[in-house]
Amino acid sequence: MFKVSNLTAYIENKKILDGFSLEINDGEIHTIMGKNGIGKSTLCKIILNDPHYEIKAGDIIYNNKSILKKPTYEIAKEGIMLISQNPTSIEGVTNMEVLRTALREKSSENINIFKFNKEMEDACARLELDPKFIHKEVNVGASGGERKKIELLHVAILKPSFLILDEIDSGLDVDALKVVANFINEYHKESKCSILIITHHKQILDYIKPNYVHILSEGKIVKTGDHHLAEEIETTGFRSNIIDENGKSE
Ligand code: ADP
Ligand code: MG
Repeated sequence: MFKVSNLTAYIENKKILDGFSLEINDGEIHTIMGKNGIGKSTLCKIILNDPHYEIKAGDIIYNNKSILKKPTYEIAKEGIMLISQNPTSIEGVTNMEVLRTALREKSSENINIFKFNKEMEDACARLELDPKFIHKEVNVGASGGERKKIELLHVAILKPSFLILDEIDSGLDVDALKVVANFINEYHKESKCSILIITHHKQILDYIKPNYVHILSEGKIVKTGDHHLAEEIETTGFRSNIIDENGKSE
């Protein structure tokens, strides 16, 4: 289980999260929606312990252990993986090298290089991604959509138990969105992983059905529903779905 309790976080003296809480049971898919600049990416980065943020209160628990102060590589070893909104490129190291090294770190077993190669090629085929990227430097020379697929190639190999997708839908055309959504659905089915989808468009939720949809506003979740809530937001916007302390809409 993944649990954030009462998290309050600042960046440059600005409060971004204010008593934020969330619980995701194993295998569940949750979505967080919210307008631009509300703190969605901040939450993702804090989960992976980005040192730029100052945590003033609260905790983040994964599989009964606090991960709040763990270094990012240890959080990754626990099985948490973030596909960030704008995946960065890493010059001088290929996808193959990163994945082989990460796999060695993760498991004490020897890597069967034939199985490893086949898994990478199969994932590229499923993602409709040119397999030349396997031997290319991470995300170098890749378009926005290709970067998202390359990150999912890493998912296929590293097999996270909790996958966080920060606007995976941005930069994808409708065909690529379908391919990516199918891949995520298949991965969810075979791995039984938990998934947190961050988005501000409901379109991706037409393909991936979340168990819960949450709205983030003023540093915390202000409303929770099922995928119908995403449809409501698409037609009425975020404002009318934000409830004040007296239970009234804004
Ligand atoms: P979202 O992902 O919901 O669009 P973000 O989490 O990226 O929003 O940003 C939340 C707020 O934090 C915004 O007001 C943004 O300007 C601010 N912020 C994010 N990163 C930084 C930073 N490195 N320095 C200063 N302010 C930041
Ligand atoms: Mg963001």
